[in-house]
Amino acid sequence: MPCRKPKTICLMSNPFRNITGTFDVLPDPQSSGGDAIAGSRAWQELEAVIRRVMHRYGAREIRTPILEPTELIARGVGQLTDIVSKEMFAFERGDTHYVLRPEVTAPVMRAYLQHNLEQLGGVQRLFYIGPCFRAERPQKGRYRQFHQFGAEFIGADDPRADAETVLMAIDIYRELGLTDFTVRINSIGDAASRPRYREALVEFLTPLADQLSDISRQRLESNPMRILDTKSEKERALLLGAPIITDYIDDESRAHYEAVKAHLTAVGVDIEEDPFLVRGLDYYTRTAFEIDSPVLGAQSTLAGGGRYDLLAEDVGSKKPVPAVGFAAGMERLFLALSAAGTTLPEYEAPDIFVVALGDAAAEWTFSAVHDWRSSGIRAVYDLKGRSMKAQMREANRQQAPKVIIVGDAELEAGHVAVKDMESGEQVMVPLDQIKACILD
Ligand code: AMP
Repeated sequence: MPCRKPKTICLMSNPFRNITGTFDVLPDPQSSGGDAIAGSRAWQELEAVIRRVMHRYGAREIRTPILEPTELIARGVGQLTDIVSKEMFAFERGDTHYVLRPEVTAPVMRAYLQHNLEQLGGVQRLFYIGPCFRAERPQKGRYRQFHQFGAEFIGADDPRADAETVLMAIDIYRELGLTDFTVRINSIGDAASRPRYREALVEFLTPLADQLSDISRQRLESNPMRILDTKSEKERALLLGAPIITDYIDDESRAHYEAVKAHLTAVGVDIEEDPFLVRGLDYYTRTAFEIDSPVLGAQSTLAGGGRYDLLAEDVGSKKPVPAVGFAAGMERLFLALSAAGTTLPEYEAPDIFVVALGDAAAEWTFSAVHDWRSSGIRAVYDLKGRSMKAQMREANRQQAPKVIIVGDAELEAGHVAVKDMESGEQVMVPLDQIKACILD
């Protein structure tokens, strides 16, 4: 829309805005296009909870680059997936093809193989937190830059590992106070059993093809199992009589699936078996699971995961490496927390605010706060040399519990006033006792 404001104002306003589907995390929470965006303090808190729970499970953090070779994602995630076929932010420079990572599992597997982490022995329990990028149509809960946390247990074929990845995600949600979610689980068998199911599904759906959407009709040719993911009520009704994958899986996958369910049930997790849960990524084998929040509306999946025993070979390993993991969206978690009325701390007030009046007081304040800060005290003061009233207003805005009021005359007399902002009580404190008074 053309700018109708007078030119001078237009020039002063910033012509640049963030890319649609991305957002700035400001120190304070904000609302952007109807979405409540948490402030940076809440993000830090969320990250702290994630790290704390991950460490309880013995998982250690891995940080991989945001830029990855396009081929890694194409091979790892799979050419026929939506992510690779439509949603990658990919570009070339010279002979190199780069992609902004759309997910982190393939990069973590790349790093595991590249650095030969297998030589450390046992199972590598890795976790990550960071941004991902997908060229999706932005909407509530679906962005172009979003953040995922997740864990990967690499080298683990034990069904307890599958169960632990589900538990990790649940523990993080519970630790944050989110209790209303459902865990859906399925087994999609191994590479040998899946073609049998695929064939049965195609046989079932082919006579119904004219009732399918265009996209599902295309998928019938390219990736028929993805049709099971459909959100269309009409297609869901058609699928009611479809063959069920767990009737086709091999005996080992079945035993594995039973064990995963038994482990989860043993520790009191309510699971819902969903025979149509297939996940959109090609690398999954056996276990697939999703955790949904009923308060999220259309984008209801908080986390998804499963076993991906084929991924290592897809990205260049000479031998199979069993692995299982999950990925969870952080923006959706914030949406679910806010819908559930659970809030994370959004602000941390300073311990002390200094109202300084006069040049000598300002000088003294500069050195004094430096000293206090080195003792761990969060101390702030006004940098604009404003009036006492304006400085007190600022101290109030920052919710400082105590305010020191110092003028040149007080300094000369060797004391300052300390005001308790809650009670309004004010006492004179000798200069050499201020630190103790703040820490009190
Ligand atoms: P996926 O890697 O597609 O299994 O996604 C794992 C989780 O990441 C999802 O359950 C969502 O919570 C989150 N997620 C995936 N794509 C997006 C997106 N475009 N915007 C926001 N969150 C997303």
